[in-house]
Amino acid sequence: MVLLECLLCTSNVSHLRHHLRSAHKVLNLEERQTLLRLARGRVKLRDLSCPVCSIKFTLVERHLIRQHSVLTDPVVRNLIKTLKWKVSMDELARLRETNPEIPMASTLDVIESLNLEDQVPAPQDHQVDDSFSVGLPDNKGDYRADASQAEPVKMPETYPEFVTLNLHDLLEMD
Ligand SMILES: [Zn+2]
Ligand SMILES: [Zn+2]
Repeated sequence: MVLLECLLCTSNVSHLRHHLRSAHKVLNLEERQTLLRLARGRVKLRDLSCPVCSIKFTLVERHLIRQHSVLTDPVVRNLIKTLKWKVSMDELARLRETNPEIPMASTLDVIESLNLEDQVPAPQDHQVDDSFSVGLPDNKGDYRADASQAEPVKMPETYPEFVTLNLHDLLEMD
């Protein structure tokens, strides 16, 4: 008997279709079919961008296996699994947008969209941008302080800068 993992409660069940109906009250047929297809791995991947090279392919699964032979089987399997998940979440979200007559019982797509929102860079990231200016010549206070601490190195003016540095390093070693 083939056990399938229920995506709503992670338990392995023998009759997922029945389980979705009775245990989770998934009465909307489209919703149930999407959940079933995802659990069985039978999600059609058509006209999707390859997660590796970002090029759109009619059969992205075949493209991944054939064109990205550098990738190991588990990596490819994971990429395909992720694609199937995303496609299914899109299906559920689209169904939700239509406000179906028979209401949806699952919330996987809602959780997914919330997770994606979390990954969007937060406004605090602007502080990271500001930090780039620290230590640059326009930050005159720090710049001068560093310069005054440095030992003046006297070298023939004809030497290019990189030679000067190398000679200085050698002198330090002695
Ligand atoms: Zn379940
Ligand atoms: Zn690719």
